[in-house]
Amino acid sequence: MINLIKGFHDILPDQSLKWAFIVNKARNCLERFGFREIVTPIMEKTELFQRGIGRTTDIVEKEMYTFQDIGSDSLSLRPEATAGILRAVVEHSMLKREPVLKLFTIGPMFRRERPSKGRFRQFFQINAETMGDDSPLTDAETILASYTLLDDIGVGNFSLEINSVGCKNCRHLYRSALVKYLEPSLNSLCPDCQRRIETNPLRILDCKEPQCIAVSRDAPLITEFLDSSCRDHFEKVKLALTSIGVPFRLEPRLVRGLDYYTRTAFEFVHSQLGRTKALGGGGRYDSLISELGGPDVSGIGFGLGIERLAMNLPDDHADFLRNTDIFVAIIGAGPLNPGFELVSRLRRSGLSVEARYSGMSLKAQMKVADRLSAGWVVMIGDDELALGKATMRDMTTKRQFLVELDDIERVVRGEIF
Ligand code: AMP
Repeated sequence: MINLIKGFHDILPDQSLKWAFIVNKARNCLERFGFREIVTPIMEKTELFQRGIGRTTDIVEKEMYTFQDIGSDSLSLRPEATAGILRAVVEHSMLKREPVLKLFTIGPMFRRERPSKGRFRQFFQINAETMGDDSPLTDAETILASYTLLDDIGVGNFSLEINSVGCKNCRHLYRSALVKYLEPSLNSLCPDCQRRIETNPLRILDCKEPQCIAVSRDAPLITEFLDSSCRDHFEKVKLALTSIGVPFRLEPRLVRGLDYYTRTAFEFVHSQLGRTKALGGGGRYDSLISELGGPDVSGIGFGLGIERLAMNLPDDHADFLRNTDIFVAIIGAGPLNPGFELVSRLRRSGLSVEARYSGMSLKAQMKVADRLSAGWVVMIGDDELALGKATMRDMTTKRQFLVELDDIERVVRGEIF
């Protein structure tokens, strides 16, 4: 037997309705907020992610699936969606036609992380991006879109954490202060963070190693280093969120794993999963579009992980269960072809219909109908066939009666009997 690749997973049929439910809710919600769908390839030139996400992030440094294409560029499976979306936006000059552009995408991402519950090497994300509008109201609207989506899907027990990570100038000052604070404890940090102090010290605040958490506990906070325009922007975001009744908690240590964030950063934390396994998050990026060759406009976006959303929904919700309207039980060889024709006719009328054609006993067929949670069983044997009728059994009330073949749809729709 050849097994799955470590950290990859199958979405089996008993999960697929839940999966479809989440995706449908996402499409519906994001379209209501004015986002339109874009589908970009799952593979891009490695350089796009190096430039977009940042060479010193864990994602680019350690977690990308990268390979050299024959006689060509280095390619990588996408570890996140924003860089690919922005590449497409710039390549197709989309911002020229639509200076404020709102796009979403749903699809798989790939990161070579250590797999654990809720952490995979292939996982699915719902992503939305608004480009070309730097108003704090757009930050609030983006947060509201993701918050509404979680609500629409029915994920409970989550809270919203927000922070401002400032602009390049604020971060420059903060970085120096942070390094100055951390340097005396350099030897107490994990080997990764000892390296990060040179390359990307802000990420130390995000490290999950206990010794790093202890060292950085009293570190200076980015919010103390915001310049007046970043502070003003953040105040307006908070005011806007309050005005529309979106509850949030300020989390001044929230930095997020991608280098491109500026100003607003946010994350949705589930009470059971905790901060290390957030449901999703996002933030503003002020120079990413221009760094990728586009106009000098900013953007803001978010990503929600579908596996983590699915984990927090029950399996037995009515919307996630298979819905078979009718099981047609064909009794004996004589009614086989008429039964087959009946199944085809009922399906054409829009009902979901199942049947077995291998000559199973009625008892065995009733078991299948039960397993499929069929609402009705339509039995057709030689006696029924002779009368041009079928026996219908309501699987909820167990009531059973004879009907004309032509009346079956109307019975199922509750129009007669
Ligand atoms: P990020 O792109 O890192 O901001 O992640 C956004 C969201 O994607 C997270 O909050 C998770 O819900 C999901 N996510 C990120 N990495 C993984 C992973 N390795 N496995 C499952 N979900 C993930």
